[in-house]
Amino acid sequence: MRPMLGLMQDVPLTLDTIFRHVEQHHGDVPIVTNGPGGPVRSTYAAWADRTRRLGGVLDTLGVSADGRVGTFAWNSQRHLELYYGVPCTGRVLHTLNIRLFPEQLTYVVNHGEDEVVFVDRTVLPLLWPLIDTMTTVRHVVVMDDGGTNEVPDDPRVRDYETLLAAAEPVAFGVVRDENTAASMCYTSGTTGNPKGVLYSHRSTVLHAMAVVSPNGFGIGVHDVAMPVVPMFHANAWGLAQAAPMAGAAMVFPGAMMQPQALADLIVAEGVTFTAGVPTIWQGMLPHLAGREHQLRKIGCGGSAVPAALSEAYREQVGLPIYQAWGMTETHPVASGGTLARRYDDADEATKAALRARQGVPLFGVQARIVTAGTTDELPWDDVATGELQVRGPWCAASYYEEPGTELTTEDGWMKTGDIAALDEFGSIRIADRTKDLIKSGGEWISSVDLENAIMAHPAVAEAAVVAVPNPTWGERPLACVVVKPGETLTEAQVLDHLRPLVASWWLPDAVEFIDEVPKTSVGKFSKKDLRSRFAEYPAKS
Ligand code: ADP
Repeated sequence: MRPMLGLMQDVPLTLDTIFRHVEQHHGDVPIVTNGPGGPVRSTYAAWADRTRRLGGVLDTLGVSADGRVGTFAWNSQRHLELYYGVPCTGRVLHTLNIRLFPEQLTYVVNHGEDEVVFVDRTVLPLLWPLIDTMTTVRHVVVMDDGGTNEVPDDPRVRDYETLLAAAEPVAFGVVRDENTAASMCYTSGTTGNPKGVLYSHRSTVLHAMAVVSPNGFGIGVHDVAMPVVPMFHANAWGLAQAAPMAGAAMVFPGAMMQPQALADLIVAEGVTFTAGVPTIWQGMLPHLAGREHQLRKIGCGGSAVPAALSEAYREQVGLPIYQAWGMTETHPVASGGTLARRYDDADEATKAALRARQGVPLFGVQARIVTAGTTDELPWDDVATGELQVRGPWCAASYYEEPGTELTTEDGWMKTGDIAALDEFGSIRIADRTKDLIKSGGEWISSVDLENAIMAHPAVAEAAVVAVPNPTWGERPLACVVVKPGETLTEAQVLDHLRPLVASWWLPDAVEFIDEVPKTSVGKFSKKDLRSRFAEYPAKS
């Protein structure tokens, strides 16, 4: 016998629903975008009107019904207009990472077949020289965010504000199937060419509902949310949907991404929630320490959050960092570090250790660890490590137009390429990315654990640990350390600090003092660069 069906309305989960909600119920809530002339103030009502007009602009420009619309822009109100104006008219928003190498940028625009690119004037010189390599782009719409960059005199170039002023507002409501594509984002391609992840309206709404919930970022009408994490990569971690959904005010840094400017904006605008990668918080600590602020939660992920960084925030800024884990392929937020009630009475050291974990999957996502290359599940004992796999309505099933690339196992789990352990409650502890693990004498060494231990030294600003070739062991760890300004540190001091913290065979063979850890386009440690820089490192005799 067939199970009985429920009798509830089948209303599709589309971005229009968020748009309409914020337009109807939170129109007076402020949106602020920082700029060279100071913050520019607006409201959701004004934004909604402009967003509807943007729908008209896309029609005027003749963008196809399912056309891909590129954005090459900082976090700003205009970018938020594109985040809704594009998908609510059925088109697909393609956020382009402004820090991609030129060849990669051309590759992703051509692979996505973008018909138009909306570009901030401050970053126009990064895009315009490539325009003739971008075979499908018919229009470049310049959004004047200040500065003096020359705007080319070319029929393909249009001005955003001029187009908007002339456009008719549109009604939206054309997307009926919640599985329609809403946006796409390419992974930053730490290996091989970038690969496209194609988000649907449904996945975007469900992800935002998880992000907005208390165990996620926990955002409501009293919040002022500021995404430092870029809208040009991994969806600004869902904040561009979560904050409007919650009726929270939004603050955008624009191009003013210097640590001092960000810290001043947080203080001046009463920001209560913000999020970014660890490098951002590392740089901002001295500018926030000891100041009065309204911050309630700081979200951080993208790479491991060192316990020392979170503790420094607890002591100097008054709140520890909330760690989340995810990938472009998971929208990106999949797990978060809200501590369960069982830890209420734990001491600060235990809590600090728990916050250094990547946390429990948010409701909707399931996680497991398996022996790499199999579907054999490993125990949740916090000892066994294996490949982390996830499944859920905002995890990608496959990449866009990448035949032959298998993202999902035959039993429907997404392969993350991360190596992790799970504790008895399924809290995730990422040991490494598969390609960053150091294989010494057939045993794995976690570069992340070593980095966390080194970064706990008070004289260390940053540390990255990479594998260097070794004739006896195959690979051995090399610690690349950046010393804080005004401090001194020797190799022996680093190793003495590590000795009580890690197994003796984990001790790096050498310590290299470097000026800066190279970063990827999204501000993560670029271990690929360090590995090639030290590829010929002389093995320790
Ligand atoms: P890419 O860096 O390849 O563009 P993403 O930006 O999607 O890809 O990054 C996803 C990866 O970032 C994850 O697979 C994981 O290795 C790493 N990562 C994300 N969050 C965390 C975290 N909280 N701790 C450790 N690693 C993390």
